[in-house]
Amino acid sequence: MDLRLSDDLVELSAEAQRVGREAASSAEVREDSWLIGTSRDFSLELARRGWLGMTWPVEEGGGGRTPLERTIVFEALIGEGAPVATSWFADRQIGPTLLQFGTSEQRGRWLPDIIAGTSAWCIGMSEPDAGSDVASLRTRARRDGDDWVIEGQKVWTSGAAEADWCYLVARTDPDAPPHAGLSEFVVDMRSDGIDVRPIVDVTGNAHFCEVHLEGVRIPGDCLVGTPNGSFTQIMRQMEHERGGIDRLVSNRRLYLDVVELADRDDPRVRQRVASIESTYRIGRHMILREVVGQAPPGWSAVTKTLCTEFEQRVAEFCGSVVGAEALLVNRVSRNLCYAPAYTIMGGTTLILRNIIGDRMLGLPREPVRR
Ligand SMILES: Cc1cc2nc3c(=O)[nH]c(=O)nc-3n(C[C@H](O)[C@H](O)[C@H](O)COP(=O)(O)OP(=O)(O)OC[C@H]3O[C@@H](n4cnc5c(N)ncnc54)[C@H](O)[C@@H]3O)c2cc1C
Repeated sequence: MDLRLSDDLVELSAEAQRVGREAASSAEVREDSWLIGTSRDFSLELARRGWLGMTWPVEEGGGGRTPLERTIVFEALIGEGAPVATSWFADRQIGPTLLQFGTSEQRGRWLPDIIAGTSAWCIGMSEPDAGSDVASLRTRARRDGDDWVIEGQKVWTSGAAEADWCYLVARTDPDAPPHAGLSEFVVDMRSDGIDVRPIVDVTGNAHFCEVHLEGVRIPGDCLVGTPNGSFTQIMRQMEHERGGIDRLVSNRRLYLDVVELADRDDPRVRQRVASIESTYRIGRHMILREVVGQAPPGWSAVTKTLCTEFEQRVAEFCGSVVGAEALLVNRVSRNLCYAPAYTIMGGTTLILRNIIGDRMLGLPREPVRR
């Protein structure tokens, strides 16, 4: 076991950092760039550098590079605040899902545009009454001839207003048990019957949206994977969504900027800096364990819990460094307002702790009564 990065990887990281810094230099906000930093131009730049679909098989048009290389690149890009959001969902999870569950026709249809940086995707899972409990979602897809017709509503759909495609989960068998009647679809966001309504969050940003679907007709071959078999597919997709480097570095640049202002002669500040720096390294090791394929099943619940709680501590630290200035409108106050979202999106910490206790540690579901 050699935990050091090779010279090639160190060089790759430095290159990505330079590219990320330049791309972020004009951005007002550099935090959460994987979610709110949209730029079609930067997607093209990522594609030009071979940084989209980096790990996907060469025969599918991907770069055939290692997951470690991809992680190193995006740690540096997101850590600098580069606007990767337009291509992020597709690169992080839709592409891998299509590679695993899509037909060759579907892969040939959607992967080239993702790799070329010319398509933007959103994820339509959550609904007003179905967030943690995806099995209770009610959006319906019913067969009509060769097509599917979709009715329902999604919410918190990040990037929906800019997306070309939505990876959508809908109920296809209302008579089956809740977990067993769901299927996955690729929906063209320009289809008739789709109404996207952006939601303004507490920071004034409007990246997530309500998506209303009324009689949306899509071709039959837009169903991905097994009909009514979405639940297993979702679990796999959540591993991509939860376990990656984006969950650690959302506000890394803010921390690096603010720590320069801190009184590092003060022992209390020194202790907090030491704690943040060591937790960053622990989180990074945990992510890398998953990246190199040496983590047990369910590990992403552990990394997401540790890393997103860490990001919240970073926001608090930055607030305490700038003091009353955190009451003004600036990057620090914005991050403080936004930080509660870290432990909600992609699965709440309470749900993830349930997964850790239940599936990883084998703890009893009910407290043992004595
Ligand atoms: C910034 C942001 C971006 C998002 N982007 C997307 C997106 O692009 N696409 C998408 O589909 N969704 C998206 N979401 C939605 C996100 O996945 C949900 O918010 C999340 O899964 C929680 O669901 P919920 O909000 O309905 O809360 P609920 O599920 O209603 O939970 C409310 C509270 O109850 C707790 N709780 C619920 N069930 C249990 C249980 N069994 N045991 C213990 N505690 C429980 C939860 O931990 C939470 O504290 C986004 C959310 C945010 C904040």
